[in-house]
Amino acid sequence: TEFVTVSELANMMNVQPTQVIAACMSLGIFASINQRLDAETIQIVSDEFGFEAEFVSAEVQDAIPVVEDKEEDLIPRPPIITVMGHVDHGKTSLLDKIRNANVTEGEAGGITQHIGAYSVVKDGKKLTFLDTPGHEAFTAMRARGAQVTDVAIIIVAADDDVMPQTKEAISHAQAAGVPMVFAINKIDKPGANPDKIREQLSQMNILVEEWGGKYQSQEISAKQNLNIDLLLEKVLLEAEILNLRANPNKNAVGVVIESSLDKGKGYVTNMLVEAGTLKVGDVILVGRNYGKVRAMHDEKGNALKEAGPATPVSILGINGAPNAGDKFNVMDDEREAKSIASKREQLYREQGLRATKHITLDEIGRRL
Ligand code: GDP
Ligand code: MG
Repeated sequence: TEFVTVSELANMMNVQPTQVIAACMSLGIFASINQRLDAETIQIVSDEFGFEAEFVSAEVQDAIPVVEDKEEDLIPRPPIITVMGHVDHGKTSLLDKIRNANVTEGEAGGITQHIGAYSVVKDGKKLTFLDTPGHEAFTAMRARGAQVTDVAIIIVAADDDVMPQTKEAISHAQAAGVPMVFAINKIDKPGANPDKIREQLSQMNILVEEWGGKYQSQEISAKQNLNIDLLLEKVLLEAEILNLRANPNKNAVGVVIESSLDKGKGYVTNMLVEAGTLKVGDVILVGRNYGKVRAMHDEKGNALKEAGPATPVSILGINGAPNAGDKFNVMDDEREAKSIASKREQLYREQGLRATKHITLDEIGRRL
């Protein structure tokens, strides 16, 4: 059996994929970055880096069957979008403007709650934004094996430069294979020089469309609410090319965005449904926790009975606080959910007791 890829293994050990490739080579294995490695190779290579590879038991691995979707069951789903860029270049301002533009009068007094993500409708099409800007959240999620971004908006202030964090954001998006749309922000400022930004991007081999390249970009002012609709149109265009689809007619699967303990309500879990439809009353297995969905709300505080693909929801009923990036599965059997959760908890505790420099390869076999 083959397990993780070279790049996934490198990621878990926080080393460069080239180092893993070199280690494989010394074993006489010529592996490419996306090649899956067998258990023995993983064991030897992790050992060389001072890690102990651990494989979760077959029982836990196979507990959740992988359901291949049939072509005819797939329908278009909204894109999930992350905003990344250098500090103070306008990520929060942009996210706020997009969110507020979508709150219609009379809706809960226009106040939206923070549930880690929100959806807006543009020209009759839905877009879902992750509400934690910056690439830290993006990489944290990816490190847990969850990629919850379809399109990245890279925001750059036109009165500044392409900065180190801009470059980092770009390379993270590129590494994840996520298409980028550039927002050149703060064009209302007297010192704004969008051409300088385009020039600096071109030095990174990023040519925007105006300059004959393939990357869409849009000059905006997040502060003055200028051209944000044009930016969203470009994001939608980018998403259309991806032909994003999901099967809404199955048990929901998705990912945790954040969770917390509320004194009155208990554990609040904010999650993104990726496929299937989540319903009140569903039994959820999530990381080392489980529970029955007792209540479900959207970011406007509306109670929901069900939620389909690419919908952010806040739910009550989980028996603990799972981590951001943890996958969730709806299970048919509550006892089974409980039993898998406690097995995972047991594995986790055992691992916690071991040596300090230690990795768990519990991504292995977690195919959903
Ligand atoms: P973040 O750190 O990337 O989230 O940036 P913020 O959204 O917090 O913005 C940083 C500062 O830039 C704040 O003072 C914003 O008011 C200001 N700002 C953001 N967008 C614009 C803009 O389009 N024009 C101007 N003049 N200021 C902006
Ligand atoms: Mg901010």
